[in-house]
Amino acid sequence: RAKGSGKNGYRLFDESIQKEIHEKSVIESGIRKSLETNGLELHFQPLYNTKDKKITSIEALLRVRSPELVQFGIQKIIQIAEFTGQIVEIDNWVLENACIAIKRINKQLVNPIKISVNISPVHIMQQDFVENVQYIVESTGIPPGWLQLEITETSLMKSFETNFKKLEMLKELGISIHLDDFGTGYSSLSYLNSLPIDRVKIDKSFVDMMLRSEKEQRIIETIISLAHNIGLEVVAEGVEQKEQLDMLVKYKCELIQGYYISKPINFEKVVLKLQEEDINYTN
Ligand code: C2E
Ligand code: MG
Ligand code: MG
Ligand code: MG
Repeated sequence: RAKGSGKNGYRLFDESIQKEIHEKSVIESGIRKSLETNGLELHFQPLYNTKDKKITSIEALLRVRSPELVQFGIQKIIQIAEFTGQIVEIDNWVLENACIAIKRINKQLVNPIKISVNISPVHIMQQDFVENVQYIVESTGIPPGWLQLEITETSLMKSFETNFKKLEMLKELGISIHLDDFGTGYSSLSYLNSLPIDRVKIDKSFVDMMLRSEKEQRIIETIISLAHNIGLEVVAEGVEQKEQLDMLVKYKCELIQGYYISKPINFEKVVLKLQEEDINYTN
């Protein structure tokens, strides 16, 4: 459409670029305002353990309060923040607040759970990334074993050796590393073996395809058993139906995340949910 001939074609092209530039600047200043005025918050999505039949961890997911930002969706906001560099400040805000949240949550539970935080590739590239994480864990005073970082394959494609080392250092501190959106990136199954990770999260797109054909089921079954064979735990993301859950249990997938278990919910709601489970589990 952009290169359409004549005046109209060019005008459309101009307009769409202008719209994009405008959006970018609205998002950038919206993020700045949010960081300055307590405009960010976290929601928490449970991960259900199919063996224990209980929630053993939660994932922190960023939300924005201002209506002018909400309209864009969190993925777009993060994409712009990666472009402007604001993502580092955002990620650190999320890390600190996730640590504070899990500390408050576990105070109210008999059986402590863990929290996952998404880390942008741009953040990992920062020279002081490891020190940042270590500082936040120490200053909030949580056991490092309560923290799990979710990274994507992009983080391992750029500056592989440096980032690899950084992740190993975090693992030595006792922090777990999980590979998010597995299957959507470069994903060579053979290289999984050598990565400093503890868990893979199979992307929702595979879980979606599962109900379509037996062939698709065999693909996901193979990914799960391959991951298990090299000592990794497996999460299936985006499980929305009981049929998917049942199949995944059959394939020995130990962790399930998705609307079928719970949508991302706010702090008060997740505490209530976890407290209910905690009581059932101890009795
Ligand atoms: P992600 O880490 O892969 O998170 C999963 C996304 O799928 C979340 O979207 C979640 O709400 C959604 N989801 C979970 N279960 C279901 C389901 O059953 N059905 C459907 N349709 N969706 C489901 P959300 O919160 O919009 O986040 C999107 C992405 O934005 C995340 O993908 C992550 O890559 C990024 N993100 C979110 N919060 C943060 C953050 O604090 N820092 C960074 N760097 N990235 C973040
Ligand atoms: Mg994630
Ligand atoms: Mg994911
Ligand atoms: Mg994702």
